[in-house]
Amino acid sequence: MQTYAYGFPRLGRNREFKKITESLWKRETSKEEFKKALDGLEEDILSIYDEFVDKYPVGEMTKYDKMLDTACMLGIYEIKEINEYYQLCRGKNALELTKWFNTNYHYLVPDFSQINDNFLFKQVNFEDVRRYKKYKKGIPYIIGPFTFLKLSKGISSGKFKSFLLALSDVYRELADEFEEIHIDEPAFCLELPNEEIELIKKAYNNFKTSKCKIYLFTYYDSVDFLKELYDLPIYAIGLDFVQGKENIDYIKKYGFPDDKVLIAGIVNGRNIWRTNIKERVAFLEEISSYARNIIISNASPLYHLPVTVEGESLDEKLIKRIAFARERLQELRLISIAFEGDWQLADKWNEETGVFGKDDNVRGRIKNLKDEDFQRPCDYTERYRKQKEILNLPLFPATTIGSFPQDGEVRRKRALFRKGKLSSGEYRTFIQDRIKGVIKFQEDIGLDVLVHGEFERTDMVEFFAQKLEGIATTENGWIISYGTRCYRPPVIYGDVSRPEPMTVDEIGFAQSQTRRPVKGMLTGPVTILAWSYVREDIPVWEVSYQIALCLQDEIRDYEKEGIKIIQIDEPAFREKAPVKKRNWGKYFEWAVKSFNLIVSKAKPETQIHTHMCYSEFGEIIGYILKMDFDVITIEASRSKGDIIEYFQNVDFKRQIGLGVWDIHSSYAPEVREMKKIVERALKAFPEENFWINPDCGLKTRDWPETEIGLRNLVELARQLRGEKEVKGEKI
Ligand code: GLN
Ligand code: ZN
Repeated sequence: MQTYAYGFPRLGRNREFKKITESLWKRETSKEEFKKALDGLEEDILSIYDEFVDKYPVGEMTKYDKMLDTACMLGIYEIKEINEYYQLCRGKNALELTKWFNTNYHYLVPDFSQINDNFLFKQVNFEDVRRYKKYKKGIPYIIGPFTFLKLSKGISSGKFKSFLLALSDVYRELADEFEEIHIDEPAFCLELPNEEIELIKKAYNNFKTSKCKIYLFTYYDSVDFLKELYDLPIYAIGLDFVQGKENIDYIKKYGFPDDKVLIAGIVNGRNIWRTNIKERVAFLEEISSYARNIIISNASPLYHLPVTVEGESLDEKLIKRIAFARERLQELRLISIAFEGDWQLADKWNEETGVFGKDDNVRGRIKNLKDEDFQRPCDYTERYRKQKEILNLPLFPATTIGSFPQDGEVRRKRALFRKGKLSSGEYRTFIQDRIKGVIKFQEDIGLDVLVHGEFERTDMVEFFAQKLEGIATTENGWIISYGTRCYRPPVIYGDVSRPEPMTVDEIGFAQSQTRRPVKGMLTGPVTILAWSYVREDIPVWEVSYQIALCLQDEIRDYEKEGIKIIQIDEPAFREKAPVKKRNWGKYFEWAVKSFNLIVSKAKPETQIHTHMCYSEFGEIIGYILKMDFDVITIEASRSKGDIIEYFQNVDFKRQIGLGVWDIHSSYAPEVREMKKIVERALKAFPEENFWINPDCGLKTRDWPETEIGLRNLVELARQLRGEKEVKGEKI
């Protein structure tokens, strides 16, 4: 049984990719040194592939993002110089970043809006692919024409067809230069209308007379029109048999053509649990009766996993259960060998580790949940009245989303604390000093609802993971979320419980420093799940409810401490939705219920906020409405008009804070710029429901611009209130 692997993380074992790129940006590394280092990293990956698998792509490496590279290659952006490339990635004129399918990897969105409708990809420059001709083994890698166009923006609907056909011509020319080519088409797994499937057929039929063998990869879900791919001139079809559960049904129904190769994606590229070799071999035996030619591979790109488990000091039992990218390659080999009959290594790989992380108390609480545990007993109108009385906030209350700049000192102290060079007492004093400072700062500026600044949190998910039982965190398990930005997804391996309050110390301290309300700040269960590796031995909704119960308890402790406003962040609420919309119902049901489970025991007087950002909200507005919050703060800088319309269409009655400051842009907007957003919004929302806030946390900003931005924001709120006064109305 042959093996094929792709998508190995480019980050490097010790985050070399991040280090060399950032040092290039800081001009500490020359372009030549950078290029050499990047080539070195690529060589390393190729040799890892070479060590474990029979086939693999070459050309997956990128300086920042593969979608951008494809756009440059196709002549959409003209790049003469590396600095011009990075201008498209970061800074003032950067392209938009958006989540790649239902993952937390963000790609740069190629923008066709500046492009002439007669643009026919005449300026393509395939040097980047051609340079891989010298590799005898690897198969040149390229993002497919359909996925590329489908994920770009600014293409008028009438032009999609001609662009795709024109693109298929240039891809055909490229293919003719090679014997084999690796084409990624994950967008084949979306729910596509018939016209687009017809277009795909037309485009790919263009390869008919080409001698190049096309290895086409789909992943993240199943391909609904698989049968129609059988008639196309594609040599091998890669299918995801882990997340694409329906792929196997299609194969059983339609078989698989003898003249094609099935690349069976059978080891998980999205999660870290070791593959059960026995079960996979049995699966292979089963599909062998439908497909004559099979190669096995990972089910989706491996860059959703850290490089290697080696060197991690996790519990030994846990280590024996997990596999990162390098270990996935090992598994492919193990499966291949076991399939031929040699089970020795495979058996060792799947050694029993015994039950651990089980908590009967937690299981019992889940089992006893009743309908009323998912509902706040008091309705919004009643809550509104009570909260208004207690909070006594002005019209257009001004607030922020939670974090304040995580400056060098904060990061340094945290590192010292982690290394044991700062005692927990000293660290706590440092954090309290910072909280004191930021409370004073917010009071001086004139914000109405304050936050504690989140200085103690490295990351909004990892922080909670470290406080909860049943979740482990890694030392070096980094993955890229975009560019050079990395995070370490925690590992949810057991039943989740809260041994003690997680955030009450800091929030309570912050509240003790001021008479104005301080918001308690929690990360919601969906976001914790989305940015972690989650156990698969119990249903995901159950894990979600377990986390929700911990947060429910935390709210109770907040209330005891006198906290009156609590925000539950769910930035990944949309991201975690399945690729295919037909599977949304099930997901959103438990996602919404998890939120409502957290807040169901909160007092009616406690004002619950939620926060979401950087997603397409129009499609999910119906689900958002089912979440029983009092206030939602939501990003609106990208699609101001649209968001307002969505909420207007559903006759939204609760309170809302549309972000008036895009904190991802590197300058703070002026009052009049922020005002434009509000003026538009006030046509849709009554002013007593309207909050004034930035569109996300300020942790990536620096202090001077934070101060300017927030002063402007408060000035805006004052002007809005003042104008009311001038008009002679009551405030
Ligand atoms: N409270 C978090 C912060 O301000 C929210 C971050 C997010 O939405 N991604 O940083
Ligand atoms: Zn946000």
